[in-house]
Amino acid sequence: MTTTKILGKRKRIALVAHDHKKVDLMEWAVYNKTVLAKHELCATGTTGKLMEEALDRPVKKLLSGPLGGDQQIGSMIAQGEIDVMIFFWDPMEAQPHDSDVKALLRLCVAWNIPMACDRATADFLVTSPFMHDEYETTIPDYTKYLSRNVKENG
Ligand code: PGA
Repeated sequence: MTTTKILGKRKRIALVAHDHKKVDLMEWAVYNKTVLAKHELCATGTTGKLMEEALDRPVKKLLSGPLGGDQQIGSMIAQGEIDVMIFFWDPMEAQPHDSDVKALLRLCVAWNIPMACDRATADFLVTSPFMHDEYETTIPDYTKYLSRNVKENG
């Protein structure tokens, strides 16, 4: 079962890039500056700071990823405050906060959040008509899970 929710034309986009992917994300953001200007941006601390400089506009900055920023974004997703996730994570290097990265990727799927983890997917997302119009999204209904029986052993 699912419930539906309308995402407005102005999307709330979360952006995160691991250190070796930051240049890639900044290049992508500058290339797509006009489109991104129509949306609200928030980002983990260092990514957000670079993004503000690159785009010359305010970006809501959370804590740095390894210091809790990924978890802050996860919390915003769970509370319905993020519409789109752009997360350039590094497949070639273990992160001190790998468990947080995994948790964030999991929450995006749990809440049906469109997510790009590389530049090609980010291009597809940002050029989608749904990015510029209202979009009726479905949210999994966790009512059954929440009312599960936990009072019996086994
Ligand atoms: P940062 O965090 O933008 O503060 O570097 C990114 C990350 O989650 O590693």
